[in-house]
Parts: sequence; C-alpha cells; structure tokens
Amino acid sequence: MPVTRLADLIDPAQCPCLVIKVGSSLLVGPQGLRRDWIAGLVDEIAVYRARGQNIIIVSSGAIALGAARLGLDKGGRGSLADAQAAASVGQIALSGLWAELLERHGHTAAQLLLTLDDLEDRRRYLNATATLGRLRDAGAVPVINENDSVATHEIRFGDNDRLAARVAQAVQASAVLLLSDVDGLFDRDPADPAAKLVREVRGISAEIKAMASGSSGSGLGSGGMTSKLQAAEIAEMAGVALAIVNGNHDTPIARALVSDTGTLFLPTEGRRRRDAARKAWLGGRMKLKGDLVIDAGAARALQSGSSLLAAGIAAVNGAFNRGDPVGIVNADGGVLAHGLSEYDSGECALLMGRQSADHEALLGYAPRSAVVHRNQLVLK
Ligand code: GLU
Repeated sequence: MPVTRLADLIDPAQCPCLVIKVGSSLLVGPQGLRRDWIAGLVDEIAVYRARGQNIIIVSSGAIALGAARLGLDKGGRGSLADAQAAASVGQIALSGLWAELLERHGHTAAQLLLTLDDLEDRRRYLNATATLGRLRDAGAVPVINENDSVATHEIRFGDNDRLAARVAQAVQASAVLLLSDVDGLFDRDPADPAAKLVREVRGISAEIKAMASGSSGSGLGSGGMTSKLQAAEIAEMAGVALAIVNGNHDTPIARALVSDTGTLFLPTEGRRRRDAARKAWLGGRMKLKGDLVIDAGAARALQSGSSLLAAGIAAVNGAFNRGDPVGIVNADGGVLAHGLSEYDSGECALLMGRQSADHEALLGYAPRSAVVHRNQLVLK
C-alpha cells in the first residue's frame, strides 16, 4: 500500500523505507548543537527502526555549526571558502553526535558525504546505491550530507532538501520527510494572518509554485520553500511521497504526523508506478551502449525478479563503461530488459559464462554481486 496520509510515514507497512531530512535551524542553535532536541529525535527514530522501518537520515547543520565554532559571520555563507571551511569543522562534530546518540540505541551510524555527481552520473550512482544497499543489509543507519567542503557552486545540490529527494529516488524509498522550522506550505506568505496551511498537494502546478516565497525562515539553512518544492518535484517524478513538517517540538515526527499538521506531496497515479519512474531515469534519454546476450535460464531468472549474473551471459556486444545503460537480449536478439551494467564491456566479456566464485581471480579485485543488479534493471 502506498503512502496516502501523513501518519503513513511512520507505518512500516505503508512506508518500509523513509528518508528523514533535518534542517540546520533545528540542529544548530545559538549555543551550538541542540543536543537534547537531537537526542529526542534519535529516540523517535529508534522506535521506528524497532518497528521495522529502514530509516536514512539526511543531516544539514555542518556549515551553521562550523561557522559558529570558527566565528565566521553570515552563518558561514559569506563566501564559498567560508562555507567549505565551516562545513569541514561542523561535519565532524555533527557526525560524532549522530553516531553517539544512535549508538545509545544500539545502532551503528554510517556517514556518507555526497556531491550532486554521485547521484547523477550513472557510474557513481551505482557506487552510492550499492553502498546504501549494503549498509541497509548490515543494519547501519546512514547519515548523509552534501560534501560541502569540496563541493563547489556548480556541483552543489545547494540544499539538502533536493539531496534527500535524490537519495530517496536512488534507494527507492517510500517517502521523504523534511523536518523544517515551518509547518509546511502556506497558500500565501505565512506572516499574513489569512494564510492557510496546504495539507495535500497532488502534482506541483504553477499555482503551487507561486505559493513559495523562496526565503529560508531562519537564515541558517540554504533551503526555503522554493527548494522544498524542487525536492517535492524530484520525489514526484520518482513516485515517492514527500512531507514538510515543523520539527520545532519534542518528538517532532510523531507530533506532526499524528496531529496531521504538515504538507504532504503525493505522486499522481501514473507516477506511483515506480517502475515507470525508474525506467525513465535508468533509460533516460541515453542511448544503450551495448547488449548482453543471455541464455534461457538467465532470462527466466530475470522474469522472476533476480539480478543478471555473469554465468547466464552468452555474449557481449558493443563497448561500454561501468554504469552505462545496456540492453539485455535473448539469443534471437529480443530485448528482455534494460539496465545499468556494473562492469565495463571488457570485464563482462571476461566474466561471461563464469560462476561468481571465479570472478575475483579473473578480475583481480573484489567482484560486484551481479553484472546488472535487479534494482538497476527494468524488464521490457
Ligand atoms: N549541507 C549544508 C550543511 O550541512 C546544509 C544545506 C541546507 O541548508 O540544506 O550545512
């Protein structure tokens, strides 16, 4: 069952995987890290984990915290160099706190610092998703931020709202929860007494966009409502629900979701078909760079939802790199699937027809679990 109400975001049956983005203004106050509030949030997250939800945290706050520690003005956002230096200082303290608080509940934190390219470039996308998948299987809780200390203007996500939506798209999460310092999207400037909270949005129209003012309420983060709507658009394209709620309370998640206070962006019916969204991204406008010809056994395995293993490959056509989209075809040339290849064409040729146990010796390095992972392929 897909997410249809705010409360569904903490229901493991409706939302097995939830990405929670925490804004800078909630994490960092005038005295530095808001330890008690973060501890309360982690207590909540531990409850959801125990109920069986897979939770991925996207944490802002590095620049704001580092700027406070270094005494930089404008919250560390006065120049790119300031922001990068502030992020380096803030990130280490931020991750340390997440790790410490999660550890209290017996959870191991895993830090990932990503740049835009890590999720846009298909080769690096495979790396990031493989890491996130392995962390999920190993039971660790990912804590993600943008890699602000090396990211430059051109490659920055610019804000963690969009980063969270991209992560959700990459791991096929069920929903994204943006914990912010506002209750959600208002139909006009929230300072206007006539402003009303928009509780549900299906499809982001020009009218909805016009409601966003674009300024960050706190001045601490870089987001604001405009970036939240951009995140909602990314989520919508990927068939993922996204909610904006106010985190300025104790047990912020339960309070907002149970009292139904926030804005929930729901993908339109067409988008709910995850496969359609994934197909669009996987295939995109990119031309297939080659083909993997597979045997009948591998074809049956694909139909039943398995990954493509090297043992089932009979021939490799074309020259392609790791991460390139390839066709998966039967002996007659009929296209069975499209997917992203975990290996380049030379390596595929080396591995084809061979059992996984032989791969390390053939490659000279630790092999991947499949040639095309089931999460990275779309049946035709
Ligand atoms: N990545 C930034 C930080 O850690 C925050 C970006 C944002 O405000 O969304 O400070």
